[in-house]
Amino acid sequence: MSTESLDPVVALREVAFWLERSRNPTRRVQAYRKAADIIGALPDAQRQRIAATDDWQSLKGVGPKTAAVARQAAGGAVPDYLLELREAAAPIGSVDGLRAALRGDLHTHSNWSDGGSPIEEMMLTARRLGHEYCALTDHSPRLTVANGLDADRLRRQLDVIDELREQVAPLRILTGIEVDILADGSLDQTDELLDRLDIVVASVHSSLRDDRDTMTRRMLAAVRHPTVSVLGHCTGRLVEGDRGTRPPSVFDADAAFAACAEAGTAVEINSRPERRDPPGPLLEQALAAGCMFSIDTDAHAPGQLDWQGYGCERAERHGVTADRVINTLPADDLLAWCAGDR
Ligand SMILES: [Zn+2]
Ligand SMILES: [Zn+2]
Repeated sequence: MSTESLDPVVALREVAFWLERSRNPTRRVQAYRKAADIIGALPDAQRQRIAATDDWQSLKGVGPKTAAVARQAAGGAVPDYLLELREAAAPIGSVDGLRAALRGDLHTHSNWSDGGSPIEEMMLTARRLGHEYCALTDHSPRLTVANGLDADRLRRQLDVIDELREQVAPLRILTGIEVDILADGSLDQTDELLDRLDIVVASVHSSLRDDRDTMTRRMLAAVRHPTVSVLGHCTGRLVEGDRGTRPPSVFDADAAFAACAEAGTAVEINSRPERRDPPGPLLEQALAAGCMFSIDTDAHAPGQLDWQGYGCERAERHGVTADRVINTLPADDLLAWCAGDR
């Protein structure tokens, strides 16, 4: 018998987490999260009245399935559906080895850009997964389709993060950005702001079909920029999923990885199933070039924060060891490495 007692809101969010982790349709996941939001926003008295009369379905947006979860949790039990999901949850990719050595995630998004959840929920989930730190790296301004943050919004986000720190401790939130590598190789944020951030992931999101020389020049400029710590999803390829497939960008990988190794910019191993970036041969090329790596989720929702195992599995298959992965470092060592103290 479990003695665990769950708040209905916590139970509903955990159901959403497991559904999302196993790649259920967003609509299904969001039904549970929406119910959690609705119940979480109720005044105490109203919530107690609804619990006492078992009238959860009187709330607009709470259907029979979400009501059943809320009812069982409010009654002091772990909801059957939640137990079922927990038991059915299969390990993702590699769980020992590299995954066990990782201390955090350096590439995640919140609903400030194109993620689906508030910073708080992302960070509380990262803490529950056992991370020591998690970088929030929302998009930069030119990526308007992803609601990229301009300088003012980024400054405001830094204040919001400072206010959250105590609540999510001992998890340490690292400030960050996924900054666009623009057509000329410059970065889509001011140097002054980039310099203030703990983690700068630089990625190409536009003109992905640039010719080889142009793309190489863009990447060299970006990975040599003194504030950049991680080169995000370096080929931009998509191998499956809702957005269709996309071939890898073409660039001089010898030159790009030599520059990463020299400048101390880690090559990201992007864990997203539809990205699997870099492709295996390039990953081995980066390894041979002496590059360091960062195994990240690029999570846009809480359940995706547990996808790191996918990246670890690929990394291991291609011979990457823990001493080559910067997010196996304790936070202070990681930040020292990012600051150029290597
Ligand atoms: Zn990206
Ligand atoms: Zn991203």
